[in-house]
Amino acid sequence: MIVGQQKSLDDIWRMIAPFSRVLVVGCNECMAAAHAGGEAEVAELASALRIRARNEGRELEVFEFTPKRLCEPEYVAEVLAEVARCKADLVLSLACGVGVNSVADQAADLFVLPAVDTLFMGTGAEHGVWLEYCAGCGECVLEYTGGLCPVARCSKGLMAGPCGGTRDDGSCEVSPDVPCVWKLILERATRLGTRERLLEMPLFKNWSKSSSGSPRRLVREDLRIPTEDCKEGDTR
Ligand code: SF4
Ligand code: SF4
Repeated sequence: MIVGQQKSLDDIWRMIAPFSRVLVVGCNECMAAAHAGGEAEVAELASALRIRARNEGRELEVFEFTPKRLCEPEYVAEVLAEVARCKADLVLSLACGVGVNSVADQAADLFVLPAVDTLFMGTGAEHGVWLEYCAGCGECVLEYTGGLCPVARCSKGLMAGPCGGTRDDGSCEVSPDVPCVWKLILERATRLGTRERLLEMPLFKNWSKSSSGSPRRLVREDLRIPTEDCKEGDTR
């Protein structure tokens, strides 16, 4: 899932200052699971904005809408229909940054603002705690590391073993609140009898496929309906 955290009410209030009809839009998938932007959080934020507007004597209409998600064109279309219905002058998004970009791309004349800071791809480790598990590096190496990611889970992003600074309690020397993933990788490989697999990890990683390269795109020729402006075999 994509993990995010709602911005402070003060920040949101500052951002929406120029607007008078605000549609608060959520996402009932990742951001709902992250307790940052599901239907409940949309209702809470809308209510907080209405109360603040009343307390400060400001004219503000706040509407609510939570599609299944906001990162696909069909759900953006639902949001745009809702914008038209309520005559909103702003979409205030509690979806991740993908949702905000999707609205901006499809509605050239509509303001859209993020009420969430999008953080990472990860999982809920316990109630109220999420951990980053994948950095979307574009060339997965989990086949060598027993399913544990050194790119996202090692503070130094080391690809060839631990840095030597692992603390005695097994935590990372840089971030003591997380375990040293290389310690976990080595322990797991020992348990599974796959330590030699680690030696097969490619010496060089192609970082041009990661977010350090150019903006990425994925083309699945088997799924798409070809158009003239997309070249055959293009995978970026
Ligand atoms: S190796 Fe890359 S793709 Fe695989 S889990 Fe780690 S960051 Fe994600
Ligand atoms: S202690 Fe482990 S996780 Fe932390 S930087 Fe060193 S190798 Fe990476």
